[in-house]
Amino acid sequence: MVMTYKNIEQNENKNLTRARMYVNHVFETVKRRNPNESEFHQAVKEILDSLVPVFEKHPQYMENGILERIVEPERMIIFRVPWVDDQGKVRVNRGFRVQFNSAIGPYKGGLRFHPSVNASIIKFLGFEQIFKNSLTGQPIGGAKGGSDFDPKGKSDQEIMRFAQSFMTELYKYIGPDTDVPAGDIGVGTREIGYLFGQYKRIRGGFEAGVLTGKGLEYGGSLTRKEATGYGTVYFVEEMLKSKGLSFEGSTVVVSGSGNVAIYAIEKAQQLGAKVVACSDSDGYIYDPNGIDLETVKKLKEVERKRISEYVKEHPHAEYHEGCSGIWNVPCDIALPCATQNEINEEAALILVKNGVKAIGEGANMPSTLEAIDVFLNNKILFAPAKAANAGGVAVSALEMAQNSMRYAWSFEEVDAKLKEIMTNIYKNSVKAAEEYGHPDNLVVGANIAGFLKVANAMMAEGII
Ligand code: NAP
Repeated sequence: MVMTYKNIEQNENKNLTRARMYVNHVFETVKRRNPNESEFHQAVKEILDSLVPVFEKHPQYMENGILERIVEPERMIIFRVPWVDDQGKVRVNRGFRVQFNSAIGPYKGGLRFHPSVNASIIKFLGFEQIFKNSLTGQPIGGAKGGSDFDPKGKSDQEIMRFAQSFMTELYKYIGPDTDVPAGDIGVGTREIGYLFGQYKRIRGGFEAGVLTGKGLEYGGSLTRKEATGYGTVYFVEEMLKSKGLSFEGSTVVVSGSGNVAIYAIEKAQQLGAKVVACSDSDGYIYDPNGIDLETVKKLKEVERKRISEYVKEHPHAEYHEGCSGIWNVPCDIALPCATQNEINEEAALILVKNGVKAIGEGANMPSTLEAIDVFLNNKILFAPAKAANAGGVAVSALEMAQNSMRYAWSFEEVDAKLKEIMTNIYKNSVKAAEEYGHPDNLVVGANIAGFLKVANAMMAEGII
């Protein structure tokens, strides 16, 4: 039987194993201790449920309280971010950094600037980051941060003043060997530049390795901008290959039109796919001839405009208000690359009805637990975010390595390493899924493969 969210719930009242009771107990504690944090609960549940076979096989993890410790952040910092807007008005946002787990390396994870940011979102992202970072094979712990600041509609000067104020507090807690933030939603090369400038100014030295996703002129890595999108496609390519399928000639839908979406579209197109739709938070475009990526890049990366403008240059394409409608567009492969919970059960059922063959999660937790069930029950190839979008942080770790060496690899060298890392993540996830009795279930496989390395390090380091 495929292990899914619903059938685990249904079996709960039958014969519970000790491992299942342990997992349930830890999950109840998480809910009690972190009330009203639904996204964090969702992320914890997804991981904990897939770890039951691990505790059945290795009770020593239960005996050493690994789960109780792994669900509790090592540290959570919340701070005030005051800044002055262009009208001279004082504004106040809230800043966050969760340093979740440093068992295998310095904390590492992006910063998100979006009005929806709160403790629950930051903790879900930080928790997932522990396992994702472990999967990359690189020595990096899990963290995440950000602010409820909305960069949309702000001037360049306002973005700079906000970023400087944010870093004036954050700098106390980060460093190249302590905690290395990067970008995420609303934080791209421009924001990283301002954050790095302020860190350098306060600290008085050039510590390139304190942030990743930097511009190429001051310590950034080639291929970092492309890494998450390309990596997602590399992972899905491996998954398709295992069933004799490929991107060549397939129809693809990609949600979002930000950093991850743009480079997922680029790589899918390079591999011969026709990408017919993409979106932003207002709506989506459908171009039956295939999306013209140069137009999307110009609109989003240069002019910072809405995706609706696409149809002005491509009048044969359609613009539809509302971003969730994108899942009605029939496709062979769907790559959700916008945000969390963008595919619910209903959207998943439509995708299946329209004949989707594979899902590759470029965004973090874009499918609800119920949507994942729909995909697994219908034997749709499903690449979970933790594994599929790990390419971004993997290349961030390569950026850290280049900064330490004071050396820069070529685009081709980094791209080749990224591809190798994504292939290894795929293979390790498949292997773990098979070993623990859930072949073809990459959700279980990725969670277990990511967990084991961290758990073993925590065991070796003692009760801390
Ligand atoms: P980004 O460049 O800021 O782009 C985000 C895109 O998603 C934009 O098109 C945005 O539209 C859309 N979006 C954001 N919030 C939305 C919402 N509530 N509903 C619908 N659409 C929404 O961010 P990104 O770096 O591409 O990140 C996208 C996803 O990938 C996130 O889940 C992020 O955590 C994940 N991820 C990113 C990286 C990375 O390296 N950047 C690595 C791993 C995972 P608007 O422009 O209208 O807001």
